[in-house]
Amino acid sequence: MNEKLRARCDDLFSDVDAKLVKKIWSRIDNEVGVKQVLGIVPRGSIEPFWKDDPSAKSLEWSMEQSGDIWFHSNADLVLAVTERVRRGDELALHGFYHSNYQEMTREEQKTHIELGIKYLVNLFGIKPKYFMAPYNAFNEDTTNICRDKGLIILIPWASGDGAQDTKEVIEKLRWLVKNYGYQNPVPVSYHPHSMAQAKSLNSLIQILKIMAKL
Ligand SMILES: [Zn+2]
Repeated sequence: MNEKLRARCDDLFSDVDAKLVKKIWSRIDNEVGVKQVLGIVPRGSIEPFWKDDPSAKSLEWSMEQSGDIWFHSNADLVLAVTERVRRGDELALHGFYHSNYQEMTREEQKTHIELGIKYLVNLFGIKPKYFMAPYNAFNEDTTNICRDKGLIILIPWASGDGAQDTKEVIEKLRWLVKNYGYQNPVPVSYHPHSMAQAKSLNSLIQILKIMAKL
């Protein structure tokens, strides 16, 4: 087990297939042996436009609120994540919505991050360790809020599926190291929906194996 490296699973929305993620996770377990950081979006999939959604307006929500964009509406996925967390994988908030935090006010960011923590604590009984900004887009407000809430901002060091604008992400990483002394795991990010093809999963495994040797 490589203690420093992490497979960063982005975009765990309610519409993600639990069978697919379990297949991905077991191949990574068997062939690489790294922990997962599971990036959950309580109110995904890709947007409802959050400003029009009443759930974004207050800190009040309840598990009785249903509808298929709530993460907990996918019971198989909740169970799959619960099992992984019990075995030592780490939990991340990947936005309350999959929204761009650079385009949100400080208050909006704070409300969403508080909502997200509350949601994950209710669902899994533990606080997320990380905040993974959707699109890796965040600013100084995000950093300060996360620090106040005890969340570490996690930035991918490499992409397992070519989804990142690497140059921009590296700039963010530099900025974080310079201003906040970033001393965290080394995450390789990937998106479950891109892993439906065997070819993509094979290449993710290859990248993880290379990173595990560094
Ligand atoms: Zn994402």
